[in-house]
Amino acid sequence: MNKADSERLAGALEHLGMSSVSNPREADVVVLNSCVVRQSAEDRVIGTLGHMKSIKKDRKEQILALMGCMVGANSKDLSKRFPHVDVFMKPQQFGPLLEVIGDRTGIDVEGCLSNLVPTHPSICSFVPVIHGCDLMCTFCIIPFRRGRQISRPLDEIVAEVGSMVNRGMKEVTLLGQTVDAYGHDLEGEVDLADLLRDVSNVKDIKRVRFLTSHPNFMSQRILDMVRDSEKVCEHINLPVQAGDDAILHAMRRRYTQREYIEMIENIRKTIPGVAITTDIIVGFPGETREQFKKSLDLITDLEFDKVHIAAYSTRPGTYAQRNLTDDVSVEEKKERLRELEETQKIVSARNNEKLLGQELEVLVDGAKDGQWRGRTRTDKIAFFTDARELMGRVVKIKVSRTSPWSLGGVICN
Ligand code: SF4
Repeated sequence: MNKADSERLAGALEHLGMSSVSNPREADVVVLNSCVVRQSAEDRVIGTLGHMKSIKKDRKEQILALMGCMVGANSKDLSKRFPHVDVFMKPQQFGPLLEVIGDRTGIDVEGCLSNLVPTHPSICSFVPVIHGCDLMCTFCIIPFRRGRQISRPLDEIVAEVGSMVNRGMKEVTLLGQTVDAYGHDLEGEVDLADLLRDVSNVKDIKRVRFLTSHPNFMSQRILDMVRDSEKVCEHINLPVQAGDDAILHAMRRRYTQREYIEMIENIRKTIPGVAITTDIIVGFPGETREQFKKSLDLITDLEFDKVHIAAYSTRPGTYAQRNLTDDVSVEEKKERLRELEETQKIVSARNNEKLLGQELEVLVDGAKDGQWRGRTRTDKIAFFTDARELMGRVVKIKVSRTSPWSLGGVICN
C-alpha cells in the first residue's frame, strides 16, 4: 500500500516539474513513507530520520516530509521529537506537502492533487481499491492510522487501471487491507468479483491480482471469478494469523481453525492449480507452546506456497497493548519464528519440486545477474536466460530447477 501511495505522490511531484534523484543529499524534497505495522519497521523509519537530520544541517532549504502510518491523529508529539521534519502527512494525504512546495515555488498545486495516477507505473503496479479497515483485530494498528473502510468507485478504478496500462503497466494488483470486502460499503450490489471482471476487460491488461483477503469476506462468487477469468491470476493470500482457536478469538479474527481449513479446501476444489499464501504471527500475548504448535501443524498440513511470519510486537493504542500482557519472551518469539520458517522452507521446496518439467507462463519484470526475472501466475519468482529484449513480455518457460524460494527454467517460445 505504501509503494502504491509513493508512486502516486511521485506522479503529483512530476506534475510540479520535479524529477527523482538517487541520493537524498541532492534532493530538494525528501519524503519518508513510514510503516509502523511492527516495531522493527518503525525503528527503521526512526533510524532514517536520524540520518536525514545530518543531511538537513547542510541543506537547510531542503523540504523533509514524513508520510504514512507513523503520522497519527496528532502530529504535535512527532514535531517535538523530529523538529527537522517540515511536513507531516497521514496516509494518502498528500495535500500538505504539495501546498508547501506550491508556496515555495509559486506554483498552483490544485491540478496536481486532482490527478494522482502514477506517471511511470512499473510493469507490475499496485492500485488501492479500498482505503482503511473496519475490522479491529486486537494486535493491529492499521484501522487507527488508515481509518474506516472506504471503497473507491468501480468506474474510477477501471479508468485508472486503463491509464496506467497506457503508460506501461502490464499487471495490476488491486490492494486493500481486506480487499475481498470491496464494495460492501458502496451503494448497490458491487463486490470484488465485479471489480475483477471489469478490470480484466481493460484493453491490453495482461494480468490481474488482488491483495490482501480476509477469511470472513472470501465468497464463492470471488473464487468463481478467479477460476473463470483468463486474466485473474490463480493466487490467493488469506492470512490465518494463528492455528489455535483461543488465540484466534483473542486476536478477534472471527473464524475458527476448522472454518479456515474448510475454506482452503474449498478454494483448492474451486480453482485448479491455485497457490495459497498466508500470514502468521508468533508469540501473541498468552500464546503457549502447545498453542504455537497448532500454527506449526497448520502450515505442515495445509502446505501453503508461502507463509509471511512475524513475531508479535506491541503497537500503541491497540486493544492488545491496552489489555493484554506481552508475556512471550523475545528469545521464545525468535525460536518460534525460526521453527515456522524451517518448516515452511521444507514445504515450499516440496511444492516447487512438483513443478519440475512443467511449462509455466512468466511475466518478465526485471533482470538479475545476467538472467531475466519474472513471476508465474501463481506468484512464484522465475529466472531464465535469453538474448532477446523481453522486459514486460509474457513468455513460457519449462521448469528445470527449483529451490524453496524460486524456479529456474528454459524459455519455450
Ligand atoms: S483485517 Fe487486517 S488491517 Fe484490518 S484490523 Fe485485521 S489485521 Fe488489521
